[in-house]
Amino acid sequence: MFNVETIRKDFPILSRKVNGKPLVYLDNAATSQTPQQVIDVIVGYYSNYNANIHRGVHTLSQEATDKYEQARQKIQNHFNAKHAHEIIFTSGTTHSINLVANGFSTLLKKGDDILVSALEHHSNIVPWQMLCERTGANLKVIPMNQDGELVIPEFDALLSKNTKLVFVNHVSNALGTVNPIEYIIKQAHLYGAAVLIDGAQSTPHIKPDVQALDVDFYVASAHKMCGPTGEGMLYGKESWLKKLPPYQGGGEMIAEVTFEKTTYADLPYKFEAGTPNICGGIAFGAAIDYMNAIGFDAISKYEHELLEHATEKLLEIEGLKIYGTSKQKTSVISFNLEGIHPYDVGTILDKLGIAVRTGHHCAQPIMDYFNIPGTVRASFAFYNTKEEIDVLVSGVKKAKMMLS
Ligand code: PMP
Repeated sequence: MFNVETIRKDFPILSRKVNGKPLVYLDNAATSQTPQQVIDVIVGYYSNYNANIHRGVHTLSQEATDKYEQARQKIQNHFNAKHAHEIIFTSGTTHSINLVANGFSTLLKKGDDILVSALEHHSNIVPWQMLCERTGANLKVIPMNQDGELVIPEFDALLSKNTKLVFVNHVSNALGTVNPIEYIIKQAHLYGAAVLIDGAQSTPHIKPDVQALDVDFYVASAHKMCGPTGEGMLYGKESWLKKLPPYQGGGEMIAEVTFEKTTYADLPYKFEAGTPNICGGIAFGAAIDYMNAIGFDAISKYEHELLEHATEKLLEIEGLKIYGTSKQKTSVISFNLEGIHPYDVGTILDKLGIAVRTGHHCAQPIMDYFNIPGTVRASFAFYNTKEEIDVLVSGVKKAKMMLS
């Protein structure tokens, strides 16, 4: 049974004060908070079995290796990957995307097309631009409409035999739109193109099934899912991961090294050069356990109620405009008050203990589309409450009064 008051007790940070006021943390799309259960795993690792993995015969190393590989299996099960070796540990979504982009340098040629959506985070734009510079491939953009939805007929029209890759986020961090990735994957595959889905913003709310989606690559960051920063994952279909060359060279990723020739380790180690964030991987597994114990159906349902409540209450404020009005949304509300800079609103909200994000949210093309410098973004997690949203709404009203 979902009980938000019980859940909140798991998060020590939620009981702190900011500027003398109870913290109202509504910046979950930037990073989520960490429950005691995950903090305990981090402390437990450094207190009991901190050791380098995969290469030690001693007990601590074996314990750390076992826990790290168990975490990989937890992630495999969570995403329903066919094989554990299709899960690559990375430092986060950005690292995962760069790993794939680098790999495709050897597979693309001049004249090939890469399709990217207008709703992307910079980390799903810049690596592809760099890839295009290296290969002579063209970057083409699937446009969006005023509701912040992708224009699917335009996507259909962009697809051709030249399309080699399609990159779309599952959920937009700036607007909260949930993109129709099932359709996008299916259509792209008709043309033989590979699809990478950026799950940084979906994975805190939705449990993706990579086999049912038939997606080629799916990436996520632990720190948006109650886990630690500097940790993330790349799911790749075995066939693709075998085809892609390694990203970084170093220890762990080799089979044999001589000065004449080096051979690479099997999956997943081929992509995991150097000592990884061992504690981070183990804590990522613990975070996934934590969220699954609450249940993603319950999380989505509750967060949707928060989203509806917040949307309704915020829209009662005259001169407030919400960007991203698709019916397919997760718990992100991007808004502005007429004639007031988002940064000023965010500063006043902070004085009231309310944490929101202001700015372009690493999605400048979206801001350019709406012709605005940025927005105020409130983003909810399953540990937020309706009362906190009411505090936000009265804070926004206060900001409007002070700044008008
Ligand atoms: N993609 C999206 C949609 C995001 O929201 C973010 C984080 N804001 C990223 C990619 C990058 O994630 P990270 O900084 O954890 O690598």
